[in-house]
Amino acid sequence: MTSLLNQSVLVLNRHWLAIHFCNVRRALCLLYSDLARVVDEAHQTHDFQSWRELSQVASSPEKIHSPGFSILVPQVIMLTRYSRRPPQQVKFSRRNIYLRDSHQCQYCGATPPRDELTIDHVTPRSRGGRTTWDNVVLACISCNTRKSNRLPDECGMRPRRPPARPHWPLLGQRLHGGPPRSLWQKFVDTAYWNSILESD
Ligand SMILES: [Zn+2]
Repeated sequence: MTSLLNQSVLVLNRHWLAIHFCNVRRALCLLYSDLARVVDEAHQTHDFQSWRELSQVASSPEKIHSPGFSILVPQVIMLTRYSRRPPQQVKFSRRNIYLRDSHQCQYCGATPPRDELTIDHVTPRSRGGRTTWDNVVLACISCNTRKSNRLPDECGMRPRRPPARPHWPLLGQRLHGGPPRSLWQKFVDTAYWNSILESD
């Protein structure tokens, strides 16, 4: 039971944006205090009463039992009043550029081993290009060499996706216990979801 209480629950604000994780213990407190609703697989929301009723008929082994009743472990909750925005901007780092671009050359689409990918300046530094989210992409060695010091218009090589700062509201957030839940995936960016799985 202790381990169930310490599992991770994804917390959404009332606009359905993922803001952080809490543990099951905290999620149930918020639910009981009417500060949160449980979000189920069908995106239905439940208050404490309706979640408790649903828990009685559910056959999942993931239930918290207490003398009066038993209640299903929630995977996602939504805060009813709090509309805090997702925290912090995604840090500009090599690792996050790899995540954003899915380890894929943004010119030819190849996915070579990590050490055969380079970080390419779309507008070359020698032409005034800056090292920012909107001017760097992953490129395989051959594309990077072929592109050289040319502008996209000069060589006809344009990134498949225009580079931009990614929005992963949860990057850097600490997970509590338990496995990642498939239901989380509906509320978080694919790149972030992959990073949860990688770090598990
Ligand atoms: Zn390439």
